[in-house]
Amino acid sequence: MLKKFPFFLMLAFPLALAAQTSTRIEGRGVWAHPGDFGKSEKDVEEVFKVLKKANIQVVVPLVKDMAGRVYWQSKKFPEAVHPDYREFDLLRAITNVAPKYGIKVHAWLCDFPEGKDSPAFKAHPEWGMLNPQGGLTSEEKLTPDQVYGPVWMCPNRRPGYTDQWLLPMIEEVVRQYPVDGIHHDYVRYPGDVAPDSYCFCDYCLEHFLSDSLFYYPSRPDVQIPLKKDRLREESNWDLDFTVRPPNWAEMSREDKAKFILEGKSINRPDLGYFFYELRCDAISRFVREAWERASAIRPGIEMSAAVFINPMKSGRFIAQRWTDFAPWVDIAMTMTYRSHFQGSFEDYLTYLADVVRAQNRWVGEKCSLLVGLDAHYIFREELEPWERALSLLKTGRALESKEEFGRLVKANIASLSPFSDLRAKELSAKYDSFLKGKVTQEALAGELNGILADPPPGFFPGAKLIQTIETVRKAGGPGVIIFAASHLTRKKLWGAVEKAFSSPASPSFEVLPAGHHLSIKTWKEIWRESHKSEVGNFGARPKPPFSSSKASSPQGYH
Ligand SMILES: [Zn+2]
Repeated sequence: MLKKFPFFLMLAFPLALAAQTSTRIEGRGVWAHPGDFGKSEKDVEEVFKVLKKANIQVVVPLVKDMAGRVYWQSKKFPEAVHPDYREFDLLRAITNVAPKYGIKVHAWLCDFPEGKDSPAFKAHPEWGMLNPQGGLTSEEKLTPDQVYGPVWMCPNRRPGYTDQWLLPMIEEVVRQYPVDGIHHDYVRYPGDVAPDSYCFCDYCLEHFLSDSLFYYPSRPDVQIPLKKDRLREESNWDLDFTVRPPNWAEMSREDKAKFILEGKSINRPDLGYFFYELRCDAISRFVREAWERASAIRPGIEMSAAVFINPMKSGRFIAQRWTDFAPWVDIAMTMTYRSHFQGSFEDYLTYLADVVRAQNRWVGEKCSLLVGLDAHYIFREELEPWERALSLLKTGRALESKEEFGRLVKANIASLSPFSDLRAKELSAKYDSFLKGKVTQEALAGELNGILADPPPGFFPGAKLIQTIETVRKAGGPGVIIFAASHLTRKKLWGAVEKAFSSPASPSFEVLPAGHHLSIKTWKEIWRESHKSEVGNFGARPKPPFSSSKASSPQGYH
């Protein structure tokens, strides 16, 4: 494969690295939902004016949601188009307007969740992930009284959802719209509900043993016992042996799953390790194929992914070992939201700095990093008393716990009054009427929700957002992406973002070796160059240029 690399690129590579020095500009992005953009190109233009004023460089608009609905004019999947967006082509409007403002667009797809009523699941229920009992994710419960909802589709199964639905969708977006990039979200297995229970669909059960070569597919019925030449049992691991139970075909789904999760290959329960590795491989394979297909249509397309904080933990629990995504993903956008941290705001800032330093190490030379911050959970202190009061109203316990409820409402009125005396008085009057039985619980809840949905300016302190961004900067974070535009708008925080991202963008710390991003581009040039004669063959995987010298050394093969 090495001889296929264009020689001039190999020569130019170190020079190009040297040329790119300390001029890297801090990255600034925002995730945005369809509702943020309005329903006309004129509305979209207004949104881009706000983004430009805040010096946002990349906007990530949602184009496929968790229910499987899409927000572009799909010709291939017309039934998946959201009913409210069949006339107005939102993605067309966004990609028409964005270049005028010099802002990049990464189309955001929730990759593997679908709705129970989605066209994909309705047409192919067999594509859904199954647990050991044969149940779907949608039937799981998050808490005793909270049903999970989304149906996750199996990433592994071929032919299946990944190659028949999701990858063609990505191709269609790239073919139809001049997007700068594709953004993966939910690029993983389900994690907040039953992370150890998927996937045990028929395909995954059969392929677990064959993909790991735990039997020889040419001789499926042959059992080869472990040869115990060496003293330690596990040190005989590299001699051939099979683990496929002789009665595998007759075993129930549940027993097969138990065998995979708790069984031994040699001396201790370790088959689970191989199960988790194969799940990671299925996700990483999809990420690679997404880039290969997108880049075959538009060379130079960028790929980004919303990923969890820690690739080791997310590899184990949700098959998102995102350190393996490079170079198929150019930008890791880590969801380093406060909701993943316990403690005070100060605690969060302390942990955030440690996490950013760790993320820089994890990303290494492989891809760019935008540290994802949220503009909702950082206001835990401001939100909590309102949410507790709302929860008492929702569960009908406001009058039962009159004293606690009264304390909460009074504290909320006091916190509101410096920002809008009028609205504080209105809330106070409504609360008095509620106590007298003249206003229902629902109406009072409506009043509280109304204030959270449209608070007076300053009620959510922008200083907190600025401080969070500053913390990322000081810890060496090369860029920030904020979740989400709707929170910034509703909480009236665009002024704070403008302040934090005041122009010109300061060069970030040189935490990444200069030119590493270029190395990915160069890698891709080489990939395309070496695949010119193999259009449509996406299977081959050349060695990346930055490891080519190692691979050719005599010690390189082991
Ligand atoms: Zn499966």
